[in-house]
Parts: sequence; C-alpha cells; structure tokens
Amino acid sequence: MRIYIMADMEGISGIACREQTDRGHFRYAEGRRLLTGDVNAAVKGAMDAGADEVLVADAHGASFNLLPEALDPRARLLVGTPQKGPRLSCLDASVSGMFLIGYHAMAGTLRAVLEHTMSSKTWHSVRVNGKPIGEVGIDAGMAAAAGVPTILVTGDDKVCAEARALLGDVETACVKQGLGRHHAMCLSPQEAAVRIEKAAKRAVERLAAGGTGFRLPAHEGPVTISITYKHTEDADNAASSVHARRVDGYTVEEDYRTFADWYGGLAK
Ligand SMILES: [Zn+2]
Repeated sequence: MRIYIMADMEGISGIACREQTDRGHFRYAEGRRLLTGDVNAAVKGAMDAGADEVLVADAHGASFNLLPEALDPRARLLVGTPQKGPRLSCLDASVSGMFLIGYHAMAGTLRAVLEHTMSSKTWHSVRVNGKPIGEVGIDAGMAAAAGVPTILVTGDDKVCAEARALLGDVETACVKQGLGRHHAMCLSPQEAAVRIEKAAKRAVERLAAGGTGFRLPAHEGPVTISITYKHTEDADNAASSVHARRVDGYTVEEDYRTFADWYGGLAK
C-alpha cells in the first residue's frame, strides 16, 4: 500500500498564529518543528498498519517547511513548487489512500484557526457548481479524480467537522479547538501525536480491510469555478484570462472540462 500525505501548516498542533507559518518570522522555526512532529506521527501510524511506502508532499506556501533531517526516514519527501502541473504532484492511481495533515477550515468558517481557502490575502470564497468548497474539498476532489480516497484529515475541530460533512466516515484527528482565527485551545504536541498516529493506523487498517466507508467526492463532468476576491483589483486581474466571465465587482467564473483540470490536472 502506498500512502500519500499532503502536509499543510495551519492545522498543525500548537499552531494558532500566522507568524508560526510565515518564513522569515522568528516563530517559523517553531512551526516547522511542530509540523514535522505531526507528520512523523502520521507516517508512523501508516507504517505500523502495513503501508509499504509513504510519500510526504510539503504543501504549505512555497514548500520547504518540513525539517528534512528530522523526518521519519521511512518516508520520502516531495518538496518544491512546479510552476505548472498538478497540485497533487506524483499522485496517481498507484496510491492507495491520502492523508491531509495540518489542514484548516474553509474561508469564513466561524472560530476556525487560520481559516482560509488557498489565499488568505486575496480570496474571499470559492464555489464549485455553486457549492462552497475549502482546501479539504479541493484536494479530496483532485485525489478522487485519480481514484484515490482521502482517508485521514487532521487539524482543528472545524476542519474535522468540514471533512466529515464532505467525506462521511473519514478518519479525523482533532489537535485543537478553534476559539477564533488566532485563538485556540491546543493539545500538547505529544498528545496530538498519539491521536494522529492512532487515527493514521486506523485509516490504513480500514483501507487494508477493503476501504469500505471511504467516500470519493468525485465531480462528474464539466465544472464552473467561481472565485470571489476580497478586492476588485484582484478580480480585475483574474478577469483578464480569456476564458473568464466577470459576474460582479468581486467575482469571476471559469468553466473547466473536468474538476481536476482546474488546478493543473492530474499527475501523468
Ligand atoms: Zn498552508
């Protein structure tokens, strides 16, 4: 079994402010350490449950967040940001299941730690065929297009609820309770690691037993992606693309042949 881990930072245990996730700030070193701890717990759980291979995609910001020297040596690390190409690099049908580690709720979620969708600075909200979507929905949808189920989501209580609403009986590990955008009640990183490891183990064991209960949130056929920006000047820029339709001052729509085509398609 091959397990693919997408690792973000905002939903990592002990992280509750932007400074911990921003390179260049002195608190970023702490964020990197905490991130590596949560990811290692997930790798251990997957391996203990019989995974043959774990690939970790360092997906926050411009990548290069995980501490490579501290990563569980059984995992392989995928770093860097290709200019063009699939968002889920190297994810294809040979992958048995995906973990979303350190994820966060969609933009606008009440009392959710560092909630946003793709861009905190410019995106207000996103809809796919009229339905609001966050990063869990985007990445689970992309993986589903390759036939890969999302089997574990970790982060605050809000992203865990968002994941269950979308993915049904997905495994979740809640590492903090969101009290505000920059306010959380956190488990200690050690306790968070215990919970992540257990949930990762359960997810891979369920997969090995046939994977019943994991839902593929596949989008059939063409999709309309509608992005509402925070500032009209960003909508002006987006609207300059040949396929874009301007809906109003803040909102731009585009049609795609398939959902996966939106973010650079699938891995080839
Ligand atoms: Zn992030």
